[in-house]
Amino acid sequence: MSFKPPYKRRKVPEYIRAEVVARDGVHCVYCGKGPLHKGKLYLDHIVAGSRGGQTTPANLTVSCGPCNMRKSARELNHYIEQRLLEIDRERRTLEALLLSTR
Ligand SMILES: [Zn+2]
Repeated sequence: MSFKPPYKRRKVPEYIRAEVVARDGVHCVYCGKGPLHKGKLYLDHIVAGSRGGQTTPANLTVSCGPCNMRKSARELNHYIEQRLLEIDRERRTLEALLLSTR
């Protein structure tokens, strides 16, 4: 599967990264994989940036690549569900408008 996230991923500043790694260690908090070395260690936003999550140690956790990707896919699914609801609402509004002009 290939997709473009609907939002920009912000780079986590080095001092925040260091704090999260000092707290969580170098193993994935989701699956326990590790030790994760540079390039394999990801910081996962617990509440995604697209949903107002901040890039702060409290909202970040250590994760491996596959777990980080899985979480992104879940966030994307949530985004798609919300958009479908919006489109549905818009469709019903337009249908009502169409009926009112007949
Ligand atoms: Zn993992």
